Amino acid sequence: MNWITVVWSINMGACLTLAAFYCVVWCKQRENPVHLLFSCSAVAAAAISVFEVEMMNAQTVEQYQSLVRWVHVPTWILTVSFVAFIRLYLRAGRRWLAWSIYGLRTLILILNFISPVSINFRTITDINHFSWGGEIVSVPVGLPNLWGFISSFSLFLLLIFSVDATFTVWRRGDRRRALLVGGSMIFGAILAWHVPLVIWGVIEVPFFLGFTYTAVVAAMGYELSDDVARAAHLARELQFGEERFRRVVEAAPSGMIMVNQDGRITLANLQAEKTFGYPREELLGRPIEMLLPERLRSGYRDLRRDYLRDPQARPMGAGRELFGRRKDGSEVPVEIGLSPIHTSKGLLVLASIVDISERKLAELEAARQRHDLAHLARVSTVGELSNSLAHELTHPITAILSNAQAAQRFLVHDDVDLDEVREILNDIVTQDQRAGEVIHRLRLLLKKGEPQEYCDDVDLNEGIRDVVKLMRSDLINRNVNVDTDLAQNLPAVIGDRVQLQQVLLNLMLNGCEAMADYNSSERRLLIASQWENGAVRVSVTDRGGGIPEEKMEQVFERFFTTKKEGMGLGLSVCHTIINAHRGKIWATNNGGCGATFHFCLPIVGVGKQAVISD
Ligand code: ADP
Repeated sequence: MNWITVVWSINMGACLTLAAFYCVVWCKQRENPVHLLFSCSAVAAAAISVFEVEMMNAQTVEQYQSLVRWVHVPTWILTVSFVAFIRLYLRAGRRWLAWSIYGLRTLILILNFISPVSINFRTITDINHFSWGGEIVSVPVGLPNLWGFISSFSLFLLLIFSVDATFTVWRRGDRRRALLVGGSMIFGAILAWHVPLVIWGVIEVPFFLGFTYTAVVAAMGYELSDDVARAAHLARELQFGEERFRRVVEAAPSGMIMVNQDGRITLANLQAEKTFGYPREELLGRPIEMLLPERLRSGYRDLRRDYLRDPQARPMGAGRELFGRRKDGSEVPVEIGLSPIHTSKGLLVLASIVDISERKLAELEAARQRHDLAHLARVSTVGELSNSLAHELTHPITAILSNAQAAQRFLVHDDVDLDEVREILNDIVTQDQRAGEVIHRLRLLLKKGEPQEYCDDVDLNEGIRDVVKLMRSDLINRNVNVDTDLAQNLPAVIGDRVQLQQVLLNLMLNGCEAMADYNSSERRLLIASQWENGAVRVSVTDRGGGIPEEKMEQVFERFFTTKKEGMGLGLSVCHTIINAHRGKIWATNNGGCGATFHFCLPIVGVGKQAVISD
């Protein structure tokens, strides 16, 4: 075997090895045709090498004619796959140039098969044997085909295409790739010119077209292998990243559950196991609905659909109370944050679940304490009223007693005046009703109900009148005159009638106390109601000493008092009550003297959603 056969065979073997390798890569990543194109061009380069060796060893004209005709098939494959590879892999080379090359090469192939011998030769008359590199090689002797210039022209276009693509890659800043792949492309495209020169008899060398492409194939193969290595590195990094992600999720203090688009659990951490009481293997692959109370399951499906339509990181069911269901069937109040995670397997949703049972318990406890405090303040307020209440009750009871005694006296006589007795009994009933009313109001005020939703429609004018009635004797004792200026047709507010009466009572008592040191003719309270901008406003104005400006806010603080026996709870309780009613309470000093306390509450209809803000 001569050295030419050996070298050309090595070239062929190298090309086939690269072709096989990238064919396998393509089989695994079918979405990317780059590897297949590269594989095709390498197979074609190997095939050309085989043809060339055969041509060098050809002994007869017929043998040579057949080889020179059929070598155009691998040449077509090589050129087309090579140009397509450059366009796809380097994203370079002008499209019109590429299509011109595809068209020309196809035309050449057709002309090649309809020509008497091939596109290159009209006739081959003889085989010339000459010594090249110490070996005897065969070259054809004959007339070149005139159509052969199309073949030369296509080589010229290939050269321009290669130079243009190389410049594009260079300009993009990818200099290494431009030098390596582009340089070898230009080198190959120039060397390919030996074919027409041999045919025209300008030079006498064997064809080595397959060989010239080996450099190009090697350069491209190197670049591809670099990409494969980079992809493998990236995959390792991703794997590492995924592992790290899993570890972070596992260590998270809140429950983490990942759900796919079908609503099935794909990941759950330790805290999620603890929150719901399920071991992990009972969660994975199961529908997320299993962690919801049955009453919420159907609503949740709609929520999930909506979320998948617009997946963004956000809290779930904003403003609503959320509950999960433990393995034992009990419910757990939770807060849930959702984050979409886009992966190669599609959109996944990561839910971070915080068990808020303890917080809820603490909130309930705080509400209970607030309620107790409010009750305490109410009892102390009633304590302050006790003198006048005693008076209020003593009066009807004394009247009842004296009426009953009068009736007894009448009944001693034989000629009983029944009309007189009837009148006495009517009086007794009226006085009894009055005493009953006082006791009823007092019981209402002292009632210690559970904290409740505010759902009564409260007529504040009626509330004001009630409180004024309740305080009647107290006001007389304190020599305080009360004026009311109540708006006509005042809309109702939503709330708790008794709590709102307590606010009024506190404000009126404070007003009375503020005027205690003033001349009795000046002791006047004005209670006004009005409505504006969807809210009812009530104000209690006194003619006392007013409030120092720097204490305006402080008076609402718990235990703030300037009174010798004050508790400093009244206004803070008022503040809590009004806040809980989504209203606002504040104080102002009057222009002349005294202070005015105002509170606003949202009216029914508007009020169910409204909150009065500063
Ligand atoms: P207490 O009446 O037990 O002191 P409050 O919370 O009702 O508790 O009132 C806190 C403080 O606010 C009072 O001690 C007083 O200094 C001030 N204050 C309340 N109402 C008035 C008012 N109408 N005029 C002037 N100061 C007032």
